[in-house]
Amino acid sequence: MKKYIFVTGGVCSSLGKGVAASSLGALLEGRGLNVRMVKCDPYLNVDAGTMSPYQHGEVYVTGDGAETDLDLGNYARFTSGPLSRANSITTGQVYDAVIRKEREGRFLGRTVQVIPHITDEIKGRILAVGKEDTDADVVIVEIGGTVGDIESIPFLEAARQLIHELGRGNAISVHLTLIPEVAGGELKTKPTQHSVKAMQEQGIQPDILICRAPIKLDEATRRKIALFTNVETDAVFTSYDIDTTIYEIPLVFYDQQLDQVVLKKMGVEARHANLSAWYAMMEKFAARKGKVRIGIVGKYMELHDAYKSVYEALFHAGLACGVEVELAKIDSAKLEETQDPETILGKAAADGGVDGVLVPGGFGQRGINGMVKAARWARETRAPYLGICLGMQIMVIDWGRHVLGWDDADSSEFNPDSKHPVVSLLEEQVDVKDYGGTMRLGNSESLAEPGTKLMAAYGSAHIWERHRHRYEFSNKYKEEMTESGLKTAAFTSNGSLVECVEWPDHPWGLGVQFHPEFKSKPTAASPLFRDFIAAVKSRVTHQEV
Ligand code: GLN
Repeated sequence: MKKYIFVTGGVCSSLGKGVAASSLGALLEGRGLNVRMVKCDPYLNVDAGTMSPYQHGEVYVTGDGAETDLDLGNYARFTSGPLSRANSITTGQVYDAVIRKEREGRFLGRTVQVIPHITDEIKGRILAVGKEDTDADVVIVEIGGTVGDIESIPFLEAARQLIHELGRGNAISVHLTLIPEVAGGELKTKPTQHSVKAMQEQGIQPDILICRAPIKLDEATRRKIALFTNVETDAVFTSYDIDTTIYEIPLVFYDQQLDQVVLKKMGVEARHANLSAWYAMMEKFAARKGKVRIGIVGKYMELHDAYKSVYEALFHAGLACGVEVELAKIDSAKLEETQDPETILGKAAADGGVDGVLVPGGFGQRGINGMVKAARWARETRAPYLGICLGMQIMVIDWGRHVLGWDDADSSEFNPDSKHPVVSLLEEQVDVKDYGGTMRLGNSESLAEPGTKLMAAYGSAHIWERHRHRYEFSNKYKEEMTESGLKTAAFTSNGSLVECVEWPDHPWGLGVQFHPEFKSKPTAASPLFRDFIAAVKSRVTHQEV
């Protein structure tokens, strides 16, 4: 019998529900179980693809090309089960499917309602993840939003029905709440009591509480919470603040025996926990020596979540290279305004400048010239550079403008009238009018050219990474670009499109059309991020010598 764990949140948002759900997933994997993770998002967008990063952080792209919520990125970093379109359920998808069925006449004249039609669609989608994947032992379903939100009600109702139908023990509820500290340092349990009441009003009695708190809750506080919430004292856990890394949270939970209590509630016998990969990762974390500063030059710098997977992949690369990676978040619009990029990126900058530059993915014209300045600076000062998607297109624009001397070289995304559209739309994209899900999306193969840094990083010519873009290196300019020295380091497997460019005679300057950040893990860094940080590290050390 497959087991289902519903993870909900109360009191307020941003408590780290995704990390808590993922950490529980990691612990259950450590017990030898096959875990699948599902995110339910209460918004009406069909997927996250059409949302601005300011609204909802980054769009995480799955192998099958779904544009999903960034929590799927957490799942991918903490757990190892497959993630696809099926693992991301939104209100938009659910209504879309139900309304489509209604138009096809499939409800046979009945009135179509939230209960049972919407809830049945949600239940069907949740159960399908376990059913279609015969290896799955446990499905962890995270319900987005906060209990009490109007939008979450159909998802909570579907969870209530499933807990009832599958039977206690086969489906359990894990509820995450906040224990705030008020002036005088006192910890307050009242919001948690109210939050559990709100769950009970929805007909769900939480089996397990995970309380976000500044410190680990003592026995007396846990007992008090238990008394008010009908949860057993030993099922009240703390997700306390840590100053190491979020990747320690599985171990923080393990020390409190969260996995044991979950397994007991589900009646599952599992092998001894094997968390050696997590302990080894924390050893690497503690053993890091020195620091490198990476300038991330993008346009959504105020919001950490906008480039979440990129920042995480840099952290993973630091673990792999034994060095701390400090993030210098640089707003490309600022760089655009300055005359001399050296004052922001170079050693003369107020904060000491950066040791390497990363230009991440992005859309729209704003800030583009600042990114081009950053790329040119890295090329000319020989600072390591990693360009991701837009960051590769920026390299091509810089090359066109400053090496080939075409002042108006641009992507047709930013300047449709350029006489030198060095990055442009594919024929098949020209007539696409819909925004949702119409880009080049998901996993595909790139073939690396021998002797390139790209191939050295992956250790193979066959590279499988995910895409999310509409524009491409324009083949019309390939000859002039390569004859003037820019290296085309990889192509799509049919040879038609350029997937990677490298600077010649440069320590490490490389841009890829795909997104390596989505597959990076703390226990297995992306090879490209790893080699980028290794190049930065060797250069910094070299300078110090
Ligand atoms: N805006 C560019 C394109 O659509 C780059 C996209 C990206 O960086 N993800 O091609």
